[in-house]
Amino acid sequence: MRLLVIEDEKKAGEYLKKGLEESGFTVDVAANGIDGLHHALEEAYDLVVLDVMLPGIDGWEVLRRIRAKKDTPVLLLTAIDELEERVRGLELGGDDYLVKPFAFVELLARIRTLLRRGPPRDIEHVHIGDLEIDAVRRRVRRSGQRIDLTPKEFALLQLLARRRGEVLSRTQIASYVWDMNFDSDTNVVEVAIRRLRAKIDDGHDLKLIHTVRGMGYVLDEDREAG
Ligand code: CA
Repeated sequence: MRLLVIEDEKKAGEYLKKGLEESGFTVDVAANGIDGLHHALEEAYDLVVLDVMLPGIDGWEVLRRIRAKKDTPVLLLTAIDELEERVRGLELGGDDYLVKPFAFVELLARIRTLLRRGPPRDIEHVHIGDLEIDAVRRRVRRSGQRIDLTPKEFALLQLLARRRGEVLSRTQIASYVWDMNFDSDTNVVEVAIRRLRAKIDDGHDLKLIHTVRGMGYVLDEDREAG
């Protein structure tokens, strides 16, 4: 699970990163609203921890702009414990709210609850055309036929399926599935996509995994084969 922490106070950011990493998460920290927004929109995170009081564009604006494009769960952190602020955050699309100072275990509990709830598309069974993905048993079928995938192939398919219809760049895919950044000349994502596509689409008239030249890949049932 990959988290983004947007927090301008250096020590607080480092503390959260360390604690969350020790709890098994992969964590990126952004120290201001502009960088945070950029990361949140360009990369794939399971959840964003967003401090409201930020220099530049504040957390409300960051939240509003994330929500214009994505449904990534957002947990708001603020020093202001006022009902109005809480209502405002939830109206803007925040998923939960934690008042500073908070106990780390409380943050962890809230994060785990939100991740269990997941974004709307992160459901246990996904059907796209005749493709079925059972996230609990980690099984995939197409036209009722079982397809065996490696763990990486499964993670790749799940990412594409959760964000179906959305073109994902090689960098986004690499950072999510392999949890690292690759040099632009590496073809590891292309190779993985090719293998996955062979398993998912070969022998079927309706192709689901598509290449969008110069941009990346998308899983979609209503798209011309590419
Ligand atoms: Ca702050």
